[in-house]
Amino acid sequence: MNEPLRVLLLAGTREARLLAERLAGDPRLAVTASLAGVTRHPAPLAVATRSGGFGGAGGLARFIAAERIDAVVDATHPFAAQMSANAAAASAAAGVPLLRLQRPQWRPGPGDTWIPARDAAEAARLIPAGARCLLTVGRKDLGAFAARTDVHFVMRMIEQPGAGAPVPAGDIIRDRPGSSAGQEERLLRDHAITVLVAKNSGGADGDAKLAAARQLALPVVMIARPGQPTGPAPDPHDGTTVETIEEAQSWLDRMAQVC
Ligand code: NAP
Repeated sequence: MNEPLRVLLLAGTREARLLAERLAGDPRLAVTASLAGVTRHPAPLAVATRSGGFGGAGGLARFIAAERIDAVVDATHPFAAQMSANAAAASAAAGVPLLRLQRPQWRPGPGDTWIPARDAAEAARLIPAGARCLLTVGRKDLGAFAARTDVHFVMRMIEQPGAGAPVPAGDIIRDRPGSSAGQEERLLRDHAITVLVAKNSGGADGDAKLAAARQLALPVVMIARPGQPTGPAPDPHDGTTVETIEEAQSWLDRMAQVC
């Protein structure tokens, strides 16, 4: 039997976890998943898992060489721009194929009032004066909103903001995104929210808040994915970017066959 295909799965998303579940136990593959190590209690992955940064693109290229990685699957979050750039540079330097698994973006539907923002700084400027704002951007981007002292923020966060980081005025709710529109609607009503700020992460985990905003006719300031302020998402048909776990698995199937 041939040596198994050695795969590095850059994780930190639901899609990465589900892909790891599908790949675990495939004798043609030896998969190592990688987490940034920033979440204190990450959901466990079904394959061998390492944690922590590699030390930039150079460190990742060295890891790929030292671990004799044959293929890299970048299934990090659409807003994890640094890691994706490092993955592209390191894979090219090491001469190994790279697949980007990136879930589709959310798109506004009938009844939605979206205010597009290029980034967190622009989103902060676009919040109406005197608003009560549900802020769902994660702790890295909180600081961009701190200068808006005329806005009351309700910040829903999985992790506590870092010590010493600027935090906007308002309330912090330590929680994950609500799983139903009804749950999200209650939150919006209970806090008398007048505007929602979200990142265009896509996927099922955060879309209930958008349905709730639509139901209550609330505007949504939607932050575009990094690197694509106005343009479309990476082409899902170019062979190196896919949108679904099934497509990622097929790509690895093909890799394992030619290996
Ligand atoms: P980032 O800004 O793109 O990356 C910052 C640094 O963190 C990278 O340069 C790398 O350090 C390290 N890193 C990131 N992902 C890693 C991984 N999977 N394995 C090993 N090291 C990793 O990333 P981020 O936005 O802070 O996100 C960190 C993690 O949280 C990612 O895995 C991402 O999938 C997940 N996540 C992010 C968001 C978001 O909104 N940004 C939301 C949900 C989940 P070195 O340069 O030292 O290698």
